[in-house]
Amino acid sequence: MPYADQQTRLQQPVEERLARLNGELRHASATTILRASLLREWPQKLTYVSSFGAESAVMLALIADVDPDFPVIFLETGLHFPQTLDYKDKLIDQLGLTNVRETPPNETERKVLDPKDRLWQSDPDACCALRKVRPLEPALEGFDAWITGRKRFHGGARMSLPVFEHSAGRFKVNPLASWTQEDVDRFFVQRNLPRHPLVDQGYPSIGCWPCTRPAEDPSDIRSGRWAGMAKTECGLHVDKAERPRVF
Ligand code: SF4
Repeated sequence: MPYADQQTRLQQPVEERLARLNGELRHASATTILRASLLREWPQKLTYVSSFGAESAVMLALIADVDPDFPVIFLETGLHFPQTLDYKDKLIDQLGLTNVRETPPNETERKVLDPKDRLWQSDPDACCALRKVRPLEPALEGFDAWITGRKRFHGGARMSLPVFEHSAGRFKVNPLASWTQEDVDRFFVQRNLPRHPLVDQGYPSIGCWPCTRPAEDPSDIRSGRWAGMAKTECGLHVDKAERPRVF
């Protein structure tokens, strides 16, 4: 790719760049989207934020195909299921991932705001802000874009998910936006990927243990997340201006 073309791309205004990328790649395969993002649009400036949950193995396998040393951020909230931590180690080993970065909450802040690790009971938005949203900011430093594993079939606000977005000063890439549950299941079989052990126990979407239950409605895979609360997202995918104030 000529140097001038690369410079032109980097200097393109955000809205123009989004229009170009979504126009070019909205119907492309996940691998094509990943390769264009990793190798052409944001070389050395792209990361993947993974929960090592029910569907994470798909994106991790696709990434490992391109570059096993690609940086993967794991938000270590301190409140994951032990099965998730075991599953993370298993996937790292099986896929040969060499650059998984564990990101815990700031310990001083945690001791002040949540010394008993019970904030999730009284104020889950503040707990997610402490354990996920704020730790992500420094982890993303130096990156211009990040990959997510969100898909339209997850429902809610995700039903209109584009392949490329921009929020809070960074691009977000959603290579699996158009995948269906059947696509995910087929990929697990084709690639002989291990399932998260809780999937068989009725958990199609898996986050921290205090806020994850088996799906109440099998047709709504996120119905076990923050069950009984108005909350549906952890806040990572909400613009800063819309986030609740917690400090
Ligand atoms: Fe806290 Fe629950 Fe958010 Fe995890 S998902 S950070 S336990 S509120």
